[in-house]
Amino acid sequence: MKKVEVILKVTDTCNLRCAYCYNSEKGYKNNRVSLEQFEKLLTLLLTDYNFIHIIWHGGEPLCAGLSFFKEAMNVERKICMRSSVTIENSIQTNGTLINSEWASFFKKYGFRVGISFDGVHNEKYRQQTEKTLQGMEKLKAAGLDFSCLAVVADEAYDLEENYRFFAEKKIAFDFSPMFSEGAAKDMPKMQTVKYANDCIALFDKWLYDTNGVSVRTFAYYMNMALGGNSRICSCASCHGKYISLSADGTLYNCGRDGVSAYPFGNIDSVQSVKEMFSSEGAIRLLKGSVERRKKCKESCEYFQLCQGGCADIAIMENGLENIPVNHCYLFKTLYKHISEKIKKIVDDQVPLDALNPTVKKVLAKSLTRMGGPMHNEIADGYVK
Ligand code: SF4
Ligand code: SF4
Ligand code: SF4
Repeated sequence: MKKVEVILKVTDTCNLRCAYCYNSEKGYKNNRVSLEQFEKLLTLLLTDYNFIHIIWHGGEPLCAGLSFFKEAMNVERKICMRSSVTIENSIQTNGTLINSEWASFFKKYGFRVGISFDGVHNEKYRQQTEKTLQGMEKLKAAGLDFSCLAVVADEAYDLEENYRFFAEKKIAFDFSPMFSEGAAKDMPKMQTVKYANDCIALFDKWLYDTNGVSVRTFAYYMNMALGGNSRICSCASCHGKYISLSADGTLYNCGRDGVSAYPFGNIDSVQSVKEMFSSEGAIRLLKGSVERRKKCKESCEYFQLCQGGCADIAIMENGLENIPVNHCYLFKTLYKHISEKIKKIVDDQVPLDALNPTVKKVLAKSLTRMGGPMHNEIADGYVK
């Protein structure tokens, strides 16, 4: 199955003005990808891919309106009827506009919903906390699972306190350091060493939190440590696996700020996937990434896992062709810690019931996948 991830930045407009908004330089224009552009993109992609995962993004994607989204689902249905392609939808929203109608729509079409929400720190940088919480209640009432993504924006951020907030509400949670993009460009930079230490301290408590909720980054790193595939784009060599369509029709590798200096053409004129990936912007991005990866391969023991990291982070830190410093420190430190802890848990046969439910799940799945009589014995013991 050949899969492509589509970051569909359906509009630049947004009803919030978060202090660290990555999209602020686009000016919150009230623009929108047209249904014709959407259909053309899917039509081009289905000649090269048979699995299309659309991540609806923005701006605030819900500002595009429910009737637009209903029409977009008709476009998808039409495309699926004339090909064997599978299309899945996710959406990343600030959650403030979710009402019962939106919640039923997401449920009906099987959307995976991610809410950008900073928990106990939300009022400081994002605001409209009550509205976001109400949106989440609507999703719960519709029987929909969702997760939250919180930005760690400053030194005062308490990772553990925020995890407790989400754990008490039984909401899966992930966090990400603030990137120096858009409005955040002029904000003070995070201290990477402190951030890495905070992540490790939280991981150690999370591991044994038997009533805990999922933390996606931890689960992904554990899975990688146990030999599973990386599900993080920055560890998966994204070229040719991602495409982003902006509200003004420009195509990019993804929706991140740094890679927007490498456009892949415009949806109105491009005629094939090959044309997108052989555009001048795509070639420059690829060549720069290959240069960086050569350096990674020569110097980094984690190259097979990380594959040279994220082009956007490299651009932000040291330039596309160069190895970033902070990101690598964070990845190596956190991954090393998580892999050592998980291997020890496996070696010591720690009882499943003493572990966080997500840890249990990842372990049982990974150990069964490893195969072989010894590993199956371990897995059997765990799965009981
Ligand atoms: S970060 Fe997202 S929710 Fe906040 S202002 Fe920017 S587009 Fe809107
Ligand atoms: S450039 Fe970075 S953020 Fe964008 S798809 Fe690639 S790895 Fe992911
Ligand atoms: S040097 Fe950094 S970006 Fe390169 S493979 Fe290693 S961890 Fe990844």
